[in-house]
Amino acid sequence: MDIQQDVTIKSWDGTWTYHPHVRATPESVEDLVEIMTDPVRFPSPVRPAGSMHSTARMNGDEGGTMVDMKAMNRILHFTDDTVTVEAGVTHMQLANALKERGLQPYITTEIGNVTLAAMACAATKDSSFPGGFGQVSSYVTAVRLVTPQGEIREISEVDNPKEMQIIRSSYGLFGIIFEVTIKVRPTTAMSVRHYSLSIENFRKFFPIYRARGYAVMYYIFPYAKRVLVELRKDNPEAKPRSKYRWQYRNRFWRKYAPAVALWIQHTIPNVKLRRMVEDFHFYLLRQLLVWFVRSERTWPHAQIINYPRDPGENKYLFSMWAFREGGYFDILEEYCDFCIAYEQHTGYRCNLPSVGYAIARDVEAMFSYSWEGATLSIDPASTGGPEWEEFLHAYNDFCSERRGVPLFNQTPFLTREQVRRAFGARLQQFAARRKEVDPKNRMLDSYFRELLS
Ligand SMILES: Cc1cc2nc3c(=O)[nH]c(=O)nc-3n(C[C@H](O)[C@H](O)[C@H](O)COP(=O)(O)OP(=O)(O)OC[C@H]3O[C@@H](n4cnc5c(N)ncnc54)[C@H](O)[C@@H]3O)c2cc1C
Repeated sequence: MDIQQDVTIKSWDGTWTYHPHVRATPESVEDLVEIMTDPVRFPSPVRPAGSMHSTARMNGDEGGTMVDMKAMNRILHFTDDTVTVEAGVTHMQLANALKERGLQPYITTEIGNVTLAAMACAATKDSSFPGGFGQVSSYVTAVRLVTPQGEIREISEVDNPKEMQIIRSSYGLFGIIFEVTIKVRPTTAMSVRHYSLSIENFRKFFPIYRARGYAVMYYIFPYAKRVLVELRKDNPEAKPRSKYRWQYRNRFWRKYAPAVALWIQHTIPNVKLRRMVEDFHFYLLRQLLVWFVRSERTWPHAQIINYPRDPGENKYLFSMWAFREGGYFDILEEYCDFCIAYEQHTGYRCNLPSVGYAIARDVEAMFSYSWEGATLSIDPASTGGPEWEEFLHAYNDFCSERRGVPLFNQTPFLTREQVRRAFGARLQQFAARRKEVDPKNRMLDSYFRELLS
């Protein structure tokens, strides 16, 4: 195992900086047991790290141990409807291996870098297909982990359904996961269409989209009060052929939209003119997606995006809160007004479109953000900076006041009160169980100490 001391490590885009006393890169389960059972060489808190692509600060404290799981990245075995992999396998790596066998993941999240262990124990999102989930961990059937005491355990849906519910939201607080088993399915061609709508029409058409069996994702343009809806549906009649449609979209998301947004910001000092050019940029984006990203037979795997480390200025940052379907469209209108008022107040405007997902009810994970019923989300996005971070603090208040539910790993700057309001008794149950599993707080860092206390 590779061991480094007193290193400085940044999250993928440099937002968060960590100074662990030890950074260990285990290659085997024996290495993990050694880490857990030797608090002198590997000081607490011991925090597992995947690709470090979370937008919230997730990967440990000054002076603790960061366990980089990316070297444990083998795909272990397949059955007809599951695959078992090591913790550090990425979503992209898995999707490519599945494609070769005529299989696909149930959920093809946009991000390809996320590791399977993080998918198993932290929140994820994608628009839900009919009868399906939007959170990847809900398809995880078993994990093997090393407990805070250094014991090896297997937890499965069949034998321990209640415990699986907690593990799916355990964020590396109940042990280091080294193996994940997840359900997969035969590859099915997917149709995709985009429509540009006013908020009012989105409200009107959403129930129709759902009734017709579409998975609904959308881009929100709060300053224009418009939405670009992305509708996806399985198309078992066709053979998958197209991947370029997704690649156009992916390039926009990963690179061109942030690059053009920054170029506009840097080169047009006159605010009025800048806003006009920004509006035109977003108008063009909507038209391009409507006209070019449409097909009856795409490869589902092609949706997945590689966001490389150190992206420089052209990065895509976001936060996410989910809201119950019932009052959602009023909140969406209020969100547009909130963004406009915030700009009038401070001069700051998010320079990328917000996004959102329609996600089915899901009680498979304890901190599911659709525990009480189906939700729709609002995820502001930007290329970052101090003003963006200030905006997120105000946005958190806006959402919490409207009973939104956040994601521990994808909603930066949460407060204890916001988390308490969102999860209520589930927070207490989780905190109590965590204490039983890890009474010496071997894996508890300051982030979770604050939010769970
Ligand atoms: C540009 C960008 C786009 C994104 N797009 C999407 C998207 O489309 N859909 C989506 O769902 N998410 C998306 N995300 C968010 C991202 O998927 C999640 O934050 C995810 O948790 C990151 O996984 P990671 O491997 O980087 O894990 P990390 O961020 O390193 O860790 C996440 C959590 O998992 C724990 N963990 C990691 N490995 C282990 C292990 N072996 N055992 C126990 N605990 C472990 C960590 O301790 C931490 O609590 C995006 C993020 C970025 C930056």
